[in-house]
Amino acid sequence: MIRASEPTLETIRQKVEAGERLSFDEGLYLYRPDVSLPEVGELANLVRERKNGNRTYYNINTHLNPTNVCVYRCIFCAFRSDLRDPKGYLMSDEQILARGQEAVDCGATEMHIVGGLHHQMKYDWYRNLVALLHKAYPRLHLKAWTGVELDWFCRQTGWSIREVLEDLIAAGLGSLPGGGAEIFHPEVRDKICEHKADAGRWIDIHRTAHQLGLRSNATMLYGHIENAFHRVDHLIRLRELQDETGGFQTFIPLAFHPENTGLAQIKKPSGLMDLRTMAVSRLMLDNFDHIKAYWIMLGIGTAQTALAYGADDLDGTVRHELIYHDAGATTPEALSVEDIRRLIEEAGREPVERDTLYHRVVRDGSHWETAEALATG
Ligand code: SF4
Repeated sequence: MIRASEPTLETIRQKVEAGERLSFDEGLYLYRPDVSLPEVGELANLVRERKNGNRTYYNINTHLNPTNVCVYRCIFCAFRSDLRDPKGYLMSDEQILARGQEAVDCGATEMHIVGGLHHQMKYDWYRNLVALLHKAYPRLHLKAWTGVELDWFCRQTGWSIREVLEDLIAAGLGSLPGGGAEIFHPEVRDKICEHKADAGRWIDIHRTAHQLGLRSNATMLYGHIENAFHRVDHLIRLRELQDETGGFQTFIPLAFHPENTGLAQIKKPSGLMDLRTMAVSRLMLDNFDHIKAYWIMLGIGTAQTALAYGADDLDGTVRHELIYHDAGATTPEALSVEDIRRLIEEAGREPVERDTLYHRVVRDGSHWETAEALATG
């Protein structure tokens, strides 16, 4: 029997159509397996089309994971290595610069840089990496260092987060990726990554970044030991910070990949869970402009389907992704621009190449400009 105050799809539909905010309980309701997924998807699509029309964004980007050696031992992580493990690596300046050159040659507009917290490398190494790339390739947008890495830099230097961010901005930092958020709720976070920056710290770091004019993304790692309560709690914490700063660009739900992790006994989330999480995220995060279907983790078919379940961004061509491939992702290592555009068009959407800050990119081979820059001469 339905209590008077219990949400229904009909009451939620009325709120979504009126542009009203959904509550915590409504978010939980949308996660119930007996609530029609196609109908939840239809509501998410309504919001997606209201915000972004038929457009689906992608970018030409490359990844740089400069080291996999990490002082932490998050149990969901297949990427990290101990200091003396043969799997461990640390890239040289030459290798890092070569990666930048390759990115520019491919016409990339962005380099996404995240990695491990190396026992022996000081903050200066991480800072100089940004400075080196920025000096050599000033047009390549450097989206670098998660909240967890930035927290580590503060612990190493004794500086405030503002001081670290100002120093990195001076070196050439362009924006922050959304990693390290995992699941904020301590019931889960204390079990999967107890030592690293907690929810309050991650949020505070992104708040400070936004105050300094940096844009950032946000993520949620789902499909491991968390439940719907923890996921909705996570989304609402992000929504609250976005109300305060408006600095987030994109939310990226990350499907957990169990292979080679400390949670290898867990089955990876189903395609239906992926689509439901995409749709609930779109509906709950009413103040985020973009929701990304990260094809590397979802698989190409689910990412393509997610474009009807709230997602308006497919991420990029991506090269040199290691973190999720180490955890058993079977997706290709990169997609060509032709492939990515075809995937979007097959889904009935209009492909739009963007730069990191969602300016439309106009391209002549590897040479590119933003539409805005061309319009202003
Ligand atoms: S998730 Fe990041 S911080 Fe945690 S072990 Fe892996 S590389 Fe280290």
